[in-house]
Amino acid sequence: MTGSHDYAELYIGGAWVTPDGSGSIDVIDATTEAVMGRIPEGTAVDADRAVQAARGAFDDWAVTPPKDRADFVARMGAGIGERSGEIADAITGEVGMPRKLSEIIQAGLPQAVSAGIAGLATDFPWEEQIGTSLVVREPVGVVAAITPWNYPLHQIVIKVAAALTAGCTIVVKPSEVAPINAFILAEIIDTLGLPAGVFNLVSGTGPVVGEALAGHPEVDMVSFTGSTRAGKRVAEIAARSVKKVALELGGKSANILLDDLEGDELAKAAKAAVGACYLNSGQTCSALTRLLVPADRHDEIVEMVRDEVESTWTVGDPSTNAGRLGPVISAAQRDRVRGYIAKGVEEGATLVTGGAEPPEGIESGYFVRPTVFADVTTDMTIAQEEIFGPVLSILPYDDTDDAVRIANDSNYGLSGGVWSSDEERAKAVARRIRTGQLEINGGRFNPMAPFGGYKQSGIGRELGRYGLEEFLQVKSLQL
Ligand code: NAD
Repeated sequence: MTGSHDYAELYIGGAWVTPDGSGSIDVIDATTEAVMGRIPEGTAVDADRAVQAARGAFDDWAVTPPKDRADFVARMGAGIGERSGEIADAITGEVGMPRKLSEIIQAGLPQAVSAGIAGLATDFPWEEQIGTSLVVREPVGVVAAITPWNYPLHQIVIKVAAALTAGCTIVVKPSEVAPINAFILAEIIDTLGLPAGVFNLVSGTGPVVGEALAGHPEVDMVSFTGSTRAGKRVAEIAARSVKKVALELGGKSANILLDDLEGDELAKAAKAAVGACYLNSGQTCSALTRLLVPADRHDEIVEMVRDEVESTWTVGDPSTNAGRLGPVISAAQRDRVRGYIAKGVEEGATLVTGGAEPPEGIESGYFVRPTVFADVTTDMTIAQEEIFGPVLSILPYDDTDDAVRIANDSNYGLSGGVWSSDEERAKAVARRIRTGQLEINGGRFNPMAPFGGYKQSGIGRELGRYGLEEFLQVKSLQL
């Protein structure tokens, strides 16, 4: 039944090992709702064993020349490329992203990220002279990486590529909801001849394996991606042993259409706004889920958005690319998203399209109707909380200052967008938004640019040179 996706062992100290306990976790296909695989439910004993292996490997790995460390990372990326079809199949099953997009994004991005980070090692300023001091950059130490399910391999690889290039050793605790890709990664790494203990994989739940790693005295840094709720818990536990904590958390990002957009430009911005919210069925931390529009253009833009959603954003089986939207990841997530839609109606927002009922003609799978709300105000739940589903909220604003105020009226600060016929004007508005990244006129995601959050969206940056620096300490040698 579960076939090749049955994993009974953990990857610790350079070998596949029998877990401490006998528990296992079923992996569910988001479309068929059938069990598609099974992984070990690790324990605190497994976590400890992996940390000891990473600790044992650290001293030698830390002094391995950066170029040699980066070569492993580059080969890891190439190995992902060789198995990209299988990875895309697994993630389409686990997460529900349409297969074509899975190949490009879920399997493709980790290849680009590995190559990009590996390529930084040669010219990176590992040492610099400041006056009479030599400042050296050294790896932080043993890293625990705890990751979510929405772009599961990408989020693991960002951490592994940067940590290994920096000279750290790592224990990965993947999401228990979408873990198969992590096991494929461990199989790839196992073929590379990486020294034993540099990379370790322990599956299990957050409260058991995640907390054991976050609190472990031999872990020097926790790099966490996931919900703000779990991130706060991880930071609390990590504080007890004063370890470094990097957090990549949730978002409720605003996309501002400025009042100078007309004609084709306005139509293009309205169309793109739907994609920027709905990618991966809205399960993207940096999704632009609040669309801010000039109040006097609100109704006109709402109609453009409705046309775009109803004509283009159909739901369907992701394995055959039958629709642009697959299901959301789980029954729990589907119920949560539908609950938010019901709340939007209850709090008085105008339901433009979609709704809390199941989409028509769907027999199985955790599908949600692509939904748009208009006349949304900042006090509404759907304007404040991260929904993580295909739900777009349109909010009217009076003038540019009002748009900036609304955009910043959030506990989150992850991402955003600004559209204008004048790029300089858009950039000036973007500088006033308290978030870690913004798209100007639909500017594309750049995997070498720093990624991370302001406010409760996180601490630290990932990707590119800034991401590499997160895994380094600086030491001053006074000469
Ligand atoms: P989640 O917080 O439930 O789980 C993330 C990881 O943390 C999982 O591996 C989980 O097992 C673990 N975990 C859960 N409770 C824990 C605990 N008490 N101690 C230690 N570990 C624990 O998040 P999710 O549902 O997997 O992912 C969705 C969330 O992730 C969304 O909020 C999304 O915005 C966020 N996210 C953020 C980014 C970013 O870069 N900012 C990227 C992707 C996802």
